[in-house]
Amino acid sequence: MSGQTDGRPVVGVDLGGTKILTAIVGDGKTILGRSKKPTPAKDGAEAILVAIVASIDEALAASGLNRDDVAGIGIGSPGPLDVDTGVVLFSANLNVRDFPLAPEISKRIGKPTLLQNDVRVGGYGEFRLGAGQGYKNILAAFVGTGIGGCLIFDGKIVEGATGNAGELGHIVLKVGGPQCNCGNRGCMEAFSSRTAIARRVLKEVRKGHSTLLASKVDKKSGRIKSGDLAAAVAANDPIALKEVHRAAHYLGLGLGGLVNVFGPEIVIIGGGVTEALGAPFVDLVRTTIRKTVLVDPNEQIKVEPASLGDDAGVLGAALFAHERFQA
Ligand SMILES: [Zn+2]
Repeated sequence: MSGQTDGRPVVGVDLGGTKILTAIVGDGKTILGRSKKPTPAKDGAEAILVAIVASIDEALAASGLNRDDVAGIGIGSPGPLDVDTGVVLFSANLNVRDFPLAPEISKRIGKPTLLQNDVRVGGYGEFRLGAGQGYKNILAAFVGTGIGGCLIFDGKIVEGATGNAGELGHIVLKVGGPQCNCGNRGCMEAFSSRTAIARRVLKEVRKGHSTLLASKVDKKSGRIKSGDLAAAVAANDPIALKEVHRAAHYLGLGLGGLVNVFGPEIVIIGGGVTEALGAPFVDLVRTTIRKTVLVDPNEQIKVEPASLGDDAGVLGAALFAHERFQA
C-alpha cells in the first residue's frame, strides 16, 4: 500500500489530550477539509481510536473524498512513543499505556499509518510551511501547559540516540528551583510554562494581592487559561505583567543558551501561551535571547513567532505521511 507516486492527498491527525484535529492535505501543503473533535481521553484507548476514525471520515467528507482517495495517514501524538512500531508507550494526558495507535488506525482505515511525536510534527510543519520556511537550522519551542521543542539541523529533525532529542523544557535553569512535572527542579518548564505562571499567580492570590486573575485561576487545579492571562496583561494587571515578564525572561535565558550551543538561523516560538500573548511576549523573549547570545553580528539570528497556529500539527503530520507514503 505504500510507495505510491500518484500524488494522492494524505491525512494529518494531531491527537491532543483535549482535542483531535484532522486535515486532508493535498500537494503536501493544501488543506482540503478538516475536522475537530474532543478527545475522549477518560474513556481510554478504544474510545480514542473510534473518535480518530470518525474524525478522519468527517474530514474526508468535508473535502469530498473517501478513504480510497488518500495515500496514507500521519499522526502526531504525545508520548513517549515507539515511532518504529507506531505505539504510544504511555501518556498521562491520553490515559493510555502500550497503545498500538498507528497499527490500529491503519487496520481500521485500510491505509498505511505512521506515528510521530506531537511537538515534532508541529516543528516540522513550521519548518516546511510556516515561520521556518527558507531556513535549514531551526530551534522551535512551544509554550503551553508544558514546554516542548524541536531542533532541525541542516534540514533534518534531530532525533538523538534515544529518539527523544528536543526536550528543551527540561534544561535546568536554577539549582533547587521550582518543582517540575518531570520530577526534577528548576527546569525551564517550571519557570515559563502556563502551569508555572498559574502556580505563581495562585500564590499571589493566596497572599491577598489584587489581580484580575483572582477569579480566573482554578483554586483546586491551579490552572489558568492562556486567553485569561492575555486579557489580564492587556489590561495592565500588575501581577499578570510581572509573571509573564518573568516567564519570558527565563525562556529567553534557556533559548539563548541553546542558540549558543546550536547556532540556529531562527528561533521559532509557538504554543498556546505564545499565541494568546502575541508579539509582545516574543519581543520580551527575543530581548533576553539577544542578551544571552555571545556572538550575533548585526542581530542576524531571527526570533519569530510560529505562524501556523493550530494547523502546524496537522500539516506537519501530513508532511511526514506525504514524504513516507508518496516518496
Ligand atoms: Zn523538567
